Amino acid sequence: MDKTLLFTVGPVEMSSKIKDIGGAGIPYFRTKEFSEVMLEIENKLKKFLYTNQNSKVITLTASGSGAMEASIINIFTENDKVLIVNGGSFGDRFEKICKIHNINYNVIKLKKGESLKKEELDKYSNKGYTGLLINVHETSTGVLYDMKMVGEFCKKENILLVADAISSFLADEYKMDEWGIDVTILSSQKALALPPGLSFLIINKKVNDIIIKNSVKSLYFDLKDYLMNMERGQTPFTPAVGIIYQLYERLKEIEEVGVEKEIGIRKNLAEDFRNRIKKLPLELFAETMSNAVTAIVPKTMKANEIYEKLRYDYEMTVLPSGGDLKEKLFRVGHLGDLTIDDNEKLVDALKEILKGE
Ligand SMILES: *Cc1c(COP(=O)(O)O)cnc(C)c1O
Repeated sequence: MDKTLLFTVGPVEMSSKIKDIGGAGIPYFRTKEFSEVMLEIENKLKKFLYTNQNSKVITLTASGSGAMEASIINIFTENDKVLIVNGGSFGDRFEKICKIHNINYNVIKLKKGESLKKEELDKYSNKGYTGLLINVHETSTGVLYDMKMVGEFCKKENILLVADAISSFLADEYKMDEWGIDVTILSSQKALALPPGLSFLIINKKVNDIIIKNSVKSLYFDLKDYLMNMERGQTPFTPAVGIIYQLYERLKEIEEVGVEKEIGIRKNLAEDFRNRIKKLPLELFAETMSNAVTAIVPKTMKANEIYEKLRYDYEMTVLPSGGDLKEKLFRVGHLGDLTIDDNEKLVDALKEILKGE
């Protein structure tokens, strides 16, 4: 298999312990032992998100986009009007989902790299919105939104707040209840540093009641079924059992370290990297940055050439960009099992590449 050092956001470098679990057999899961694991996972996720015991965790065997779609079709109907914050390709995804499912929506379209300001958001006050959809960290540009500010707006307007925290959870501070977030979307392959395949919706009591009373035209994504099964620690369909065991281990590890310290590790890696590139002809792109990613505009070379050289001459993979940003922007991820030494290696390689060696 292709083996380069990953400075990505997902999949990312996994610890050897997690990889070992992946190599073991897969147990049968309609058992009381598996149910106990699921219920413990639920409790730990709620704890790490700072949400209360009445919130519920829904575990889907699908990538993060599956959880994004599932949340929208189960929570909103044609009678709703939602506001989407779109600062890049993950904001686009929310738009596409709403369009396909005939949910009325309007978009706050931000320039790439621009953060969301209170003055901009306030323009949408008192306009009859019932929901707001946002990616906490717009991974395509590295921008981290001010969720406390967004939460205050939604509380004041009495709007449901759906937050895709997929690339921000465990990298940036996140307080679900305190910030008034009603739904949090997560997936396994980002800062959780697990294989791709699982995604999660963490919903509060208010959203739980909405889901129970709505009917949804989907078999696999009918969340009522997941909520009912989860009462006893089960899922309606066969979950990615192996990844659930890896998740269980990972959450126990995080609990030992503490969630604040875990976030501190990301912050430290991100800040170390940003300090090391200060004297290089590289510009930071995002107005407000997540600890998960540094988005970089090289001043003297094309971004995609730097990506290619790192990958094929140095065996390190950073994140290339697509579309109109292809030549302009590359991103460096700070998630997964990386160290300060790895940062040093990457920055040494960047120095050589930029000098044209
Ligand atoms: C990675 C990511 C997703 C999910 O992408 P999948 O490929 O479906 O797992 C969604 N939103 C954000 C912000 C992401 O970074």
